[in-house]
Amino acid sequence: YVYFFSDGKAEGSAKDKNLLGGKGANLAEMTALGLPVPPGFTISTEVCTYFYNHNQSYPPELEKQIQENLTKVENLRGKKLGDPNNPLLVSVRSGAPISMPGMMDTVLNLGLSDASVEGLAKQTNNDRFAWDSYRRFIQMFGNVVMGMEHHDFESILTEKKKEVGANYDIDLKTEDLQDLVNRYKAKVKEATGEDFPQDPQVQLKKAIDAVFLSWNNPRAITYRKLNDIPDDLGTAVNVQSMVFGNMGETSGTGVAFTRNPATGEKKFFGEYLMNAQGEDVVAGIRTPHPIEDLKQDLPEVYNELVSIAEKLEKHYRDMQDLEFTIENGKLYLLQTRNGKRTSFAAVKVAVDMEKEGLISEKEAILRVAPDSLPSLLAKVFDEKQKQEAVSAGKVLAKGLAAGPGAASGKIALSAEQAVKLAEAGEKAVLVREETSPEDISGMHHAEGILTARGGMTSHAAVVARGMNKPCVVGCSAMLVKENEVVFETKNGEVSLKEGDVISIDGFTGEVIHAAIETIPSEIEQVFIKKSKKLEESELAQNYAKLLNWADKYAKLVVRANADTGRDATVARQYGAQGIGLCRTEHMFFEEERILAMRKMILASTSEEREKALAEILPYQKSDFKEIFTAMEGLPVTVRLLDPPLHEFLPSSEDEKAIEELAKELGVEEQKLKEKIIELQEFNPMLGHRGCRLGISYPEITRMQTRAIMEAACELKQNGIHVKPEIMVPLVGHVKELENQRKIIDEVAQQIIQEKGVVLEYHVGTMIEVPRAAVTAHEIAQEADFFSFGTNDLTQLGAGFSRDDSQKFLAEYVELGIYEKNPFQVLDQDGIGELIRIAVDRGRKTKAGLKLGLCGEHGGEPSSIAFCHRIGLNYVSCSPYRVPVARLAAAHAALKN
Ligand code: PEP
Ligand code: MG
Repeated sequence: YVYFFSDGKAEGSAKDKNLLGGKGANLAEMTALGLPVPPGFTISTEVCTYFYNHNQSYPPELEKQIQENLTKVENLRGKKLGDPNNPLLVSVRSGAPISMPGMMDTVLNLGLSDASVEGLAKQTNNDRFAWDSYRRFIQMFGNVVMGMEHHDFESILTEKKKEVGANYDIDLKTEDLQDLVNRYKAKVKEATGEDFPQDPQVQLKKAIDAVFLSWNNPRAITYRKLNDIPDDLGTAVNVQSMVFGNMGETSGTGVAFTRNPATGEKKFFGEYLMNAQGEDVVAGIRTPHPIEDLKQDLPEVYNELVSIAEKLEKHYRDMQDLEFTIENGKLYLLQTRNGKRTSFAAVKVAVDMEKEGLISEKEAILRVAPDSLPSLLAKVFDEKQKQEAVSAGKVLAKGLAAGPGAASGKIALSAEQAVKLAEAGEKAVLVREETSPEDISGMHHAEGILTARGGMTSHAAVVARGMNKPCVVGCSAMLVKENEVVFETKNGEVSLKEGDVISIDGFTGEVIHAAIETIPSEIEQVFIKKSKKLEESELAQNYAKLLNWADKYAKLVVRANADTGRDATVARQYGAQGIGLCRTEHMFFEEERILAMRKMILASTSEEREKALAEILPYQKSDFKEIFTAMEGLPVTVRLLDPPLHEFLPSSEDEKAIEELAKELGVEEQKLKEKIIELQEFNPMLGHRGCRLGISYPEITRMQTRAIMEAACELKQNGIHVKPEIMVPLVGHVKELENQRKIIDEVAQQIIQEKGVVLEYHVGTMIEVPRAAVTAHEIAQEADFFSFGTNDLTQLGAGFSRDDSQKFLAEYVELGIYEKNPFQVLDQDGIGELIRIAVDRGRKTKAGLKLGLCGEHGGEPSSIAFCHRIGLNYVSCSPYRVPVARLAAAHAALKN
């Protein structure tokens, strides 16, 4: 029932997770690797099972086995549990086969008593430390084992501090701590009716009981239910010798990484403190030393540590993050795990490790999370300017770095102000207490977002990352008032007003009172701006290597959503293999074009409409030429006009705009207003839009087809390859597509003949109406391809308005009704099922039907994995998400 580990020998290994629990198996594994792990033993999960099958009692032979193993630990350490001169102290921890955070907390320093505390003081030559450890032990044991409340002790501690005028725990003297121990013991007696156990054997037995009992506490039961963990797995108990880093000048403690976690550089990295405990390193009271200094302090220990680090990295085949303690010149390893790292480090470590032969290409791909790529592509500060500002003491505060990137601009205290500034061509940083869905458009227009409250998953943080905006949250030294924002700095308060310029660093969380120029990421400089050579950037080389590997294994093709030649060029530079969605309406929002569009909309006869359309045609044609040229023969899907027409007109309330427009068009103001009112709809998203427009006004479809085909044919005549795909939006009934296809084919054939070229083109449809999904077998008869418009499909399938539901969807996610916002992460069970039906039925009619997805979900990794599983041919997303999608597509293929 009991498995010992010490000095290179362990009675278990990583394979014995079910028997020893995760923690026990890892301790055994590290020990077996020959690492100096403090000796201890694991009581197996079988004991837990026995305990519950036998009316909460233990196997008869257990007690003897525990004592034998305890004696082994005592002999190895030369200490004895409870010894008033030289006490052994142990930690007791739970550890289930599957990690269950919060099931039972750890008990440290078990073995302390009124007698042995004196021994610890002698051992460490530190009275204060001994009594502080005893105080903490009573608190932990009282709470975890004896079921007392944490605040029972905290209130006594606070009271004591007040009595002696101590600000921090560290200000308490030995006699204060001795007094606290007495008060704690009295409280234990009062609350439980029992004395605090002085016999360490009793302490140990009670702690072991508590671990096994904690397996069935309500928290643990709920956790298992929520995470589908079987109730009969049971937990193990780990009893391990404590080691102390504060026993004098040859003791110490620290943390280390096998490579630099910020840059990925292959260089041992870390920090340590001599004569200190683990928490001193984290608490920041003393400044730790860089790990190289240990070479001078304790050269042998340093060398041992370095060789352990190498061994661990080889064994686990990943960068390790390790915790160590040195007790009287002897090194102990307390923990090792795969180290957390920045996305810059992740890319470098993955590519380097492949080069070193430690991992394969496929593993290297899987080591970089697709969602970490946006931070590689984010803007950064001009480093020199930033350093100047920092040196000049301009840092106002530091919050949580929630969205990578750098932003500099005028403070906007409201979303409206941010929009106003952006519309006036100025850069804004939106500064809020915290954000809510009403702030969305302000966030969209701001360069960056700064909030006083909230954590890494607050509204501001989540939305900013989704928008790829730099974001700093939880900046608690900042007070946001109605007309100003006040920073509490070490040099006093600094009050700033709207319009003052600040800069925020979304990589570090710094808020700086200065205007600092931002520059594109190194990746963008190399691949988009071409202002830096590939040879000059190791990052860009590694990035390119990784993404080329990704393309090799991905099954899904990645295309981009782009409406201009410029966007198409960027998309190609990021590796897009086609345009999956060109929204033609976006081409009309420029000043002179919108006038032609408005003439078309306001036309009352077919001839008038044709005349206005003839004005639009050249614009469209030249746009298409640019896009086709940029894509050099890769497929380009152009979608016919989709939005309701009133989106192109001023609102009926905007008297001024109506007046101006009437003048421009030479029509009566009243008439214009009537027309605008006539076009108004209660529910525009379900109104006269999509293919319904082309059906009512076939001349629009004709003109757009002509623009596409003339552009394509003329390029073809000049020897440029083009692959046009014409896409009909919002189809719900096969007859809608039949109607539109007929027009498209007629016009297309005619132009091909006119131009005398051979040109292949395809006609397909968006699947974004539920009726289209379930009648896909009929629709496929008229379509060469389907592209799933998951924005509308989510809107229409779940009945959530794209415009109005954002207000309550955040609440839905908080309540767990939807796990994620379904407009960001595809709802696979609902909307995904509609897609699956359409794929099955569509392919039944036409085996070679090409299938893609072009909603926002096309750039989101879990949705991309779904697309891979159901066998789509491609996903299409915004140009800057293309790298994410390429990597996610490879992950999906490799994980399947
Ligand atoms: C969609 O509905 O998913 C889509 C891509 O089209 P739009 O967002 O333009 O409605
Ligand atoms: Mg749509």
